[in-house]
Amino acid sequence: MTTNHELFQRALARIPGGVNSPVRAFKSVGGEPFFTARADGAFLWDVEDKRYIDYVGSWGPMVVGHNHPHVRAAVERAIQNGLSFGTPCPAEVTMAETIAELVPSMEVVRMVNSGTEATMSAIRLARGATGRTRIVKFEGCYHGHGDAFLVKAGSGALTFGTPTSPGVPDALADLTLTLPYNDLEAAQKLFAEAGDTIAALIIEPVAGNMNCILPRPGYLAALRELCTRHGALLIFDEVMTGFRVALGGAQALYGITPDLTTFGKIIGGGMPVGAYGGRRDLMQQVAPAGPIYQAGTLSGNPVAMAAGLAMLDLIRVPGFHDELDRRTRLLTDTLQAAADEAGVPLSINRVCGMFGLFFTSGTVETYAQATACDVAAFNRFFQAMLQAGVYLAPSAFEAGFVSIAHTEQVIADTYQAARAAFVQAAA
Ligand code: PLP
Repeated sequence: MTTNHELFQRALARIPGGVNSPVRAFKSVGGEPFFTARADGAFLWDVEDKRYIDYVGSWGPMVVGHNHPHVRAAVERAIQNGLSFGTPCPAEVTMAETIAELVPSMEVVRMVNSGTEATMSAIRLARGATGRTRIVKFEGCYHGHGDAFLVKAGSGALTFGTPTSPGVPDALADLTLTLPYNDLEAAQKLFAEAGDTIAALIIEPVAGNMNCILPRPGYLAALRELCTRHGALLIFDEVMTGFRVALGGAQALYGITPDLTTFGKIIGGGMPVGAYGGRRDLMQQVAPAGPIYQAGTLSGNPVAMAAGLAMLDLIRVPGFHDELDRRTRLLTDTLQAAADEAGVPLSINRVCGMFGLFFTSGTVETYAQATACDVAAFNRFFQAMLQAGVYLAPSAFEAGFVSIAHTEQVIADTYQAARAAFVQAAA
């Protein structure tokens, strides 16, 4: 039998860091990643046939659980007809219509192949449509690995970006302004000083890339108003929250209409898919309807569309999100109880289908509070859970995901593992 360790050694020789996406490498939690052989429902099995309850869900897409028979059957049917055509195909039209039906702000939609492509394309469109060059993002928000987004905040609201990654030219980073999430005053100040140079403000309406941080009441509405007043576009990056926190995404949950929205993850049902879209007058400026160029050899791929549409069939069943919300609450309530029993300070943020565990006694609403939590305690907890067969995201700064396949029994088993793991985390 091939072991995880053997595979990782081979991978290290041929793949940077042994992985094709950095956080998979367990660098921040320590140890080596396991290699998944198969997945079903709430579970992963590694190549050594160890089973894990999975709270990563392929980083978000698997909201109905892994390997769902309805999605698998749709893919099996689609592949009978060929893998890629390079011409329009019917499923693309159905996909655009379905997205527009479920998310009314998505009047016109363009399919792409990843969340990164969606966000990069959305800001190109924002720049092209407004004739402005600057974009605003939030410290701790992740929008994929496009140059414009690999910029982290300085200390003040007007701080110009500095690249967090070598390879991002300063000239580009200077066009990305960063703000602290959930700080309305900072946003108002920035817009007062530079509003007429800002093409777009892009935000994760629930921040899922600095663990899980919810917007303060009224915050998103105030950002909407600021953007409108200053002629900047509001882009909701719903790559993570889309179809998860509500059928209509965070924009439905909080009652905000962005100008543009980006999707990924769930919309591909596990296949590599992204989408961006929004106001008709903006989207009609995208090539070939308009002059702003964006394209893709495999965009709207028939197999990917089949997987995504099958996924959307499953989650639009009435009551799906109420049940997902109930399961999420059950999980976070039991984890809180387990931490309390062990005397471990733990604060949990939660929204339908997403949660964040913070090793601190205070509430967490900002990036500064998230990064001040006890990362070493999280790492001990992560390792103890992994040992017990529960796979959490291998970083203190990633949200956890619950799927509809996480039954009450699975959650009860998670609770049992967590009781012991919190004791180890406290050590
Ligand atoms: N935007 C958000 C909010 C994300 O969480 C991610 C990925 O995690 C992306 C964009 C980038 O998506 P992808 O990894 O598909 O390029």
